Amino acid sequence: MLETQPILQAEALHVSYGDAPALWGVDFHVNEGELVSIVGPNGAGKTTLMNTVMRLQPVRSGKLVFRGEDVTGLTASQMCNRDVSIVPEGRLLFGGMTVEENLDMGCYRAFARPLRADTLARVYDMFPILKERRTQLAGTLSGGQQQMVAFGRALMAHPKLLLIDEPSLGLSPLVVQQVFAAIAEIHRSGVSILLIEQNAVLALNVAQRAYVLEGGRIVSTGDPKVLMTQPHIRQAYLGESA
Ligand code: ATP
Repeated sequence: MLETQPILQAEALHVSYGDAPALWGVDFHVNEGELVSIVGPNGAGKTTLMNTVMRLQPVRSGKLVFRGEDVTGLTASQMCNRDVSIVPEGRLLFGGMTVEENLDMGCYRAFARPLRADTLARVYDMFPILKERRTQLAGTLSGGQQQMVAFGRALMAHPKLLLIDEPSLGLSPLVVQQVFAAIAEIHRSGVSILLIEQNAVLALNVAQRAYVLEGGRIVSTGDPKVLMTQPHIRQAYLGESA
């Protein structure tokens, strides 16, 4: 039987803001083709972890390996030249540029440019409203449509690993459903996904494996269905009273 290889592996990651530690020896991995969620409360270190993977945050100690390469020492711009894209918290679009110009910003790598027309068609297939609004300024779209642009922009780079940071933030339940349907579709197309999300129900339902991060430490990991039966998880994240 073929052994599944991790596409991303973090070993004993320590990350600090000045003297204040944010991640304390965090170990996690994402296997090729896997959808892994990391859930945790406000301030647990989820965004810090995502920014560390994108090399936006320096590592105090520990190791980060992406597709077999030690990327701990890379800068953010070097990391952008790997097969990894991020849908960042708050979306971070260029509000004064059109939808299509924002999508084109994801198509910066040389190998992605000749594939632009096909990839754009795929993005518009996934989010038809973006095709209708392709000449509209991104800053004038609804929150849900902006989130779709952020997903589309990330997909334009043909990532093997997609990092998704708090995709449900500030969106209505109906739009959240559409966004999670898109996440499942992207995953089915073969992209490995690391998802961080405060809404544990959503994150655990969509994931194949999950980690619980609290106070900068992984406190639990495993099959999301099993995690959802644990009393601590049920009380802290699923709204069940003690
Ligand atoms: P949230 O869901 O609120 O975004 P989070 O789980 O993503 O929370 P982080 O934003 O990674 O958590 O924050 C982890 C810890 O690091 C928190 O204690 C936070 O106050 C601190 N922190 C985050 N960013 C900075 C920063 N730029 N400077 C100093 N401390 C920071």
